[in-house]
Amino acid sequence: MDFNDTPEEAAFREEANGWLSGNAERLEPGERREGPMGGERADLLERAKAWQGVKADAGWACITWPSAYGGRDASSIQNVIWNQEESRYRVPPNMFTIGHGMLGPTIMAHGTDAQKDRYLRPLLRSEELWCQLFSEPDAGSDLAGLRTSAVKDGDDWVVNGQKIWTSGAHYSDFGMIVTRTDPTAVKHAGITYFIVDMKSPGIEIRPIKQISGSSDFNEVFFSDVRIPDTNRVGAVNDGWRGAITTLMNERATLSDQGGYGLGWRDALKLAGEVDWHGRPALEDSWVRQRIADFYVKTKGIEYTNFRSLTALSQGKTPGPENSISKMVGAALRQDLAKFALEMQGAAGVARDPGSTELAGGFQANWLASPGLRLAGGTDEILRNIVAERVLGLPAEARADKGIAFKDIPTRSN
Ligand SMILES: Cc1cc2nc3c(=O)[nH]c(=O)nc-3n(C[C@H](O)[C@H](O)[C@H](O)COP(=O)(O)OP(=O)(O)OC[C@H]3O[C@@H](n4cnc5c(N)ncnc54)[C@H](O)[C@@H]3O)c2cc1C
Repeated sequence: MDFNDTPEEAAFREEANGWLSGNAERLEPGERREGPMGGERADLLERAKAWQGVKADAGWACITWPSAYGGRDASSIQNVIWNQEESRYRVPPNMFTIGHGMLGPTIMAHGTDAQKDRYLRPLLRSEELWCQLFSEPDAGSDLAGLRTSAVKDGDDWVVNGQKIWTSGAHYSDFGMIVTRTDPTAVKHAGITYFIVDMKSPGIEIRPIKQISGSSDFNEVFFSDVRIPDTNRVGAVNDGWRGAITTLMNERATLSDQGGYGLGWRDALKLAGEVDWHGRPALEDSWVRQRIADFYVKTKGIEYTNFRSLTALSQGKTPGPENSISKMVGAALRQDLAKFALEMQGAAGVARDPGSTELAGGFQANWLASPGLRLAGGTDEILRNIVAERVLGLPAEARADKGIAFKDIPTRSN
């Protein structure tokens, strides 16, 4: 494990900082970075788009993308360095990680030249916004169980079905959708991947109200929606290949999103400020013990991340340790928020950012934390990955292996 920048990495960090300091203000010590969730901040999307445009003009948008599409041909470790430096400035959060980190790279890997020319530059600049239409009511962790169908009709495909949990569908111009095109094949084999214009007739978007009060994701219904064959990404019935590219990039993107949310330092600060049975909470040995536990876990995640960073820095591909960081990190964030709410007593249930401790940050974290334990791989799925790929335990039994999709038993057959 290597904690230091190489001379090249240090030079890149300086270059990134040089540009950032000329174009944005540095966060004050202790100032928290604005997070991407919470659609009630009406101006957030516009500010995020504007910042993306400023970066794109200077060649600092999607820096790992090829320069041919407006990127910088940067390496993965340079991207980590860029994200670390950008998170130290008072700039809007990146609302576009799905498009930039997952869908753009999928078009680059599997799209036609015409698709790359048409879509990638506006995607990079966030002039056109994108959503990921993968999950369905009965297909989440087991994505290959998806049932939304696409049937060829002349030069078009006709799509019927329902997607769910589609982040940003309500403001997206385009989506990338996986559909069932051959139910007689085994489940991974009969899937085709498309780009769909979200303004197409037959698409109905219904926002889902979250516990926080905002609506970041949606249900999306498709009724006889026509998608031209020129929008197909990859070969007919070979869409699983593209879906895997998107999901692999999702893992990398999720493990790359430091800087948001409250940590053990914030819990420590809060413990010095709130009253606990007539004295500052920090004087209580149980409170101190809990904060020490959070510190130890945070350090464990940091050092696990350093293993990935060292691999990246040496030009290697990080292993499944990203799954460990996501699994432990999401649970830690939830535990920390619960602890902070408990310390605040009855005030812990208040949600007014103007009058709650640390601007209601722990309350917001508490409400977002269940979703974080699901998105990008649930706790159980990540445990399966760790069990099978890190610990070498036997693979889970797959009862539907080798069976045509249409013959897999469901609730209705
Ligand atoms: C904030 C947020 C944003 C999202 N954004 C998007 C988006 O933009 N686009 C999109 O397509 N999807 C999105 N999703 C959906 C997300 O990908 C799914 O929630 C996730 O894949 C889990 O699927 P599911 O919700 O259907 O749960 P299921 O897969 O039905 O799982 C239900 C429970 O069963 C457990 N389980 C399932 N399979 C196994 C197994 N083999 N072994 C052990 N336990 C198992 C799970 O861990 C879970 O506890 C988002 C979700 C969240 C929370």
